[in-house]
Amino acid sequence: MSDNKTLQVNGRSYPWMKQPVVVVCVDGCEQEYINQAIQAGVTPFLKKLAAQGTVLTGDCVVPSFTNPNNLSIVTGAPPSVHGICGNYFLDREANQEVMMNDAKYLRAGTLFEAFSNAGAKVAVITAKDKLRSLLGHKMRGGICFSAEKADQATLEQNGVENLLELVGMPLPSVYSAELSEFVFAAGVKLLETQRPDIMYLSTTDYIQHKYAPGTPGANAFYAMMDHYLTQLDALGAVIGLTADHGMNAKTDSAGKPNVIYLQDVLDAKVGNGKTRVILPITDPYVVHHGALGSYATVYLNEGADLASVTRQVNAIPGIELVLTRTEAAARFELPEDRIGDLVVVSERLTVIGTSASRHDLSELKLPLRSHGGISEQRVPLMFNRHLAAIPSDHRLRNFDVFFLAMNAAA
Ligand SMILES: [Zn+2]
Repeated sequence: MSDNKTLQVNGRSYPWMKQPVVVVCVDGCEQEYINQAIQAGVTPFLKKLAAQGTVLTGDCVVPSFTNPNNLSIVTGAPPSVHGICGNYFLDREANQEVMMNDAKYLRAGTLFEAFSNAGAKVAVITAKDKLRSLLGHKMRGGICFSAEKADQATLEQNGVENLLELVGMPLPSVYSAELSEFVFAAGVKLLETQRPDIMYLSTTDYIQHKYAPGTPGANAFYAMMDHYLTQLDALGAVIGLTADHGMNAKTDSAGKPNVIYLQDVLDAKVGNGKTRVILPITDPYVVHHGALGSYATVYLNEGADLASVTRQVNAIPGIELVLTRTEAAARFELPEDRIGDLVVVSERLTVIGTSASRHDLSELKLPLRSHGGISEQRVPLMFNRHLAAIPSDHRLRNFDVFFLAMNAAA
C-alpha cells in the first residue's frame, strides 16, 4: 500500500491505516456512565484518555435508536444517505409495518465493504444478531459474527469458527452483560491472533436500560469494558469509542413510567382509524424497554387534517417537538419515504406508546430507562490518541468516529 492511499466512501475521504483501528460502539452509553465510573475509580483506562488521548462529545442521529446509529457509524453518513431510520416503517401500499433490519433496505455501502474490497482485513462483532447482516453487507472476506449466535459461527459464513473455545466463555444469554463482554473478549482474541486492520465492536444496552449511571451494576459493566480496552490499547490499536445513543430514566418520582399512549389520544381526539402511530423502536427484544421510546412517527389516513393533528399532539404534556415529514427529514437527515406525515419527539422523562393495550409492562422489573429522543443525542467520542484540532464550526457526530480514528492511525 502506498503511504497516502485514501478511499472515498459516501462522499468522505478516508486514509489507509498504518495501525489497527478499533471502533467501539457502546450501546446506550450516556456520557454520565463513563464520568461516574471514572469518579468511582473503576475505569483507569478511560480516566487517562482525558490526558493521554482525546475526549469529545458528539451528536448521534435522531431517532436515537440502535440501528440508525450503528448504520450511520459504519457508513459515516446520516440516515438520509443509508436509509435505515428505525426498526420499522409503514409500507403504505401493503398497509403493513415492515421490519427494516434486512440489508435490502440499505441504500449506501459501508466502510467495511469499501475497505475489505480494497484489501483490508475487517472484523465486525455485534452483541445481537439483528445487526450482523446489515453491518456485514457486501464485506469481502473478513470476520463478521454476533455474540448471540457465536456458537453457530462457521469459517464459511462468518470467517471464524470454534468461537466459544477461542474466547473461553460460554454462549451468553441475549439478556445479559456477558453478551457485551463476549464482544470485547472476542475482539481482544482476534486482535491478538489475526490482527485485523479494522475492527468494529458493537455492544448491547441491556445494562444501560436497567441501571442508572454510577450504580454498582453500571460501574461493574464499565470496569469490565475498561479491562478489555486496556488490552486492545496494549496491543497497539488506535481506539475510537462512541455510542449509538444516550439513555435516560423515563419515570416520575415514584418510578412509574411516564407514557403518552399516542394512538389512544389520537383515536379519542381525531377519530378511530384516522391516524396510525408507528414506534420504530419496536423490535423482537422488547423485554427491557416495553417498546417504549421518546420518538414516534404518525401516518395520517383520509379525513385527518395535518394542522389539526399537529395541534392536538402539541397540546399533550410531555411532548417536546412535532415536525412534518419534510421538516423532520431536513432537521434529522432522515429518508422522507420511510417516515410518517408527522414525527413526534417526547421530553427527556417521557416516552411514547401506541395504545395502552399493546404494551406489556409486566416484564419491566426496574424503573423504565429508554431513549429515542433529542434528550439522548449527546454521546461520548473518545480516543486513545491525541487528535489534530477539529474546526470549531464542525458539528461533531458519532458517525465521525471512523474518520477521526483512521486519521489518527494514518
Ligand atoms: Zn442502542
